[in-house]
Amino acid sequence: MIDLYIGGTWTEPADGGRRDIRCPADGSLVTTVAEATAADTVAAILAARRAFDLGDWPGTPARERGALLYRVADLLERDKAAFAHAESSETGKRLVESEYDVDDSVASLRYFAGVAGTDAGRVIDTGRDDAISRVVYEPVGVCGLITPWNYPLLQATWKVAPALAAGNTFVLKPSELTPSTAILLIRALEEAGLPAGVANLVLGAGPAAGAPLAEHPDVDLVSFTGGAATGRRIMAAAAATVKRVALELGGKNPNIVFADADFDTAVDFALTAVFLHSGQVCSAGARLLVEDSLHDSFVDEVVRRAELIRLGGPFDPAAQTGPLISAAHLAKVEEYVAAGLAEGAVLRCGGHRPAGEGFYYRPTVLDACKQGMRVVREESFGPVLTVERFTTEDEAVSLANDTEYGLAGAVWTQDAGKAQRVAGRLRHGTVWINDYHPYVPQAEWGGFKQSGIGRELGPTGLDEYREIKHVWQNTRPRPQRWFPAN
Ligand code: NAD
Repeated sequence: MIDLYIGGTWTEPADGGRRDIRCPADGSLVTTVAEATAADTVAAILAARRAFDLGDWPGTPARERGALLYRVADLLERDKAAFAHAESSETGKRLVESEYDVDDSVASLRYFAGVAGTDAGRVIDTGRDDAISRVVYEPVGVCGLITPWNYPLLQATWKVAPALAAGNTFVLKPSELTPSTAILLIRALEEAGLPAGVANLVLGAGPAAGAPLAEHPDVDLVSFTGGAATGRRIMAAAAATVKRVALELGGKNPNIVFADADFDTAVDFALTAVFLHSGQVCSAGARLLVEDSLHDSFVDEVVRRAELIRLGGPFDPAAQTGPLISAAHLAKVEEYVAAGLAEGAVLRCGGHRPAGEGFYYRPTVLDACKQGMRVVREESFGPVLTVERFTTEDEAVSLANDTEYGLAGAVWTQDAGKAQRVAGRLRHGTVWINDYHPYVPQAEWGGFKQSGIGRELGPTGLDEYREIKHVWQNTRPRPQRWFPAN
């Protein structure tokens, strides 16, 4: 059992540490994996450094790097069942959702494979016949890639694909709760023929296995997806060596429903927005803002349908959503609901664990919420919907923007002009109109304000992993005599 991948070799951790990975649906043992120490991570960083400084990968033609990513995408498709099974076993999400995640990962790999060689920089008109000026893109160097547990394969792919497309080397550290699909992804890279040292994998807890990726001077860029508190820590640690920092943090995303919205569709999506994957989605529509005149009927219907949602394990075909990731996370969600109730929210449904094993929590709707409440301001990252009312368009926008986050939001109305006006005023990185959750790898993903720095996906997602260099050549060099020769 050797799960660290360092310098092209599957390696035991220096101190032989292991970690049991358990299924959140029933506590069963899924697998046991290596637990890296900081020393293992430093070894992986040095391997990535050597591969970048001395290896061929950064200078490999972009179309060949793209070709490798196409091969990796094909391998994920071939092994889709194994990826999906591993993902569901560790996250607890339904198998079909993990299958979608594999499909989305394949799409991201193919997107970055396709754009890898399409933009070679630009030639500048210098206005001189004796000078050539070019702006070229180069890889940043060694990338530290740190990912969370809610979409383990997808989040890793969103980083690995552009990092490789741009010619970087990397060390990937997945969440300690969900390491298996990262192992499978690295195996696919190996099978596709990636040179030794370009991809490295460390597993384990953030403070030991992850922290060196933010601290070590041989890492040029740290790209992190996870919670805001960890993001701040990583940014502070990265400051010591002025690393490039890319952060995809949380959200407290508004879902605005105007009275003229299509009732059934808006209710349907209000449920998916927040209860998909039991709310463990950074872009979850956890704040329902509903126009006063629609409020009562709309919330009644949301509550009625929330009570119908069937919880169950990842391989239960009758399940509609799954458990929370851990006992600690479940306790945190309970604490947010209790805080909301203590501050005056009205419990309309849920608010408790169902009987039985597993870290389940019933879909919960809290009405009569106010902006000051903790459950409204902070990310519970669970199946908890807070409901607030508004009367005017201005009030809806101001409630939607009254958050330190700015990841995503939605607006529901049949008035196209109003939809565009509101979308334009929302301070969030993604805005859906009469929809919730879709994304495409061609479009940037990321947050305003404290939801993060930078963007993943799209052309900007590739730029995160590229340095820009200006190359000036004087083709007829001769003394300039700015300073006199005598
Ligand atoms: P987390 O911050 O606890 O952990 C994320 C990763 O960071 C894990 O791999 C963890 O081991 C590592 N880590 C922890 N401490 C570290 C340290 N000191 N140094 C280096 N690495 C460290 O987050 P989580 O609980 O795994 O994920 C949930 C959070 O992720 C939520 O807040 C959610 O909103 C956010 N998220 C954001 C997006 C997005 O695209 N914006 C996507 C998914 C999840």
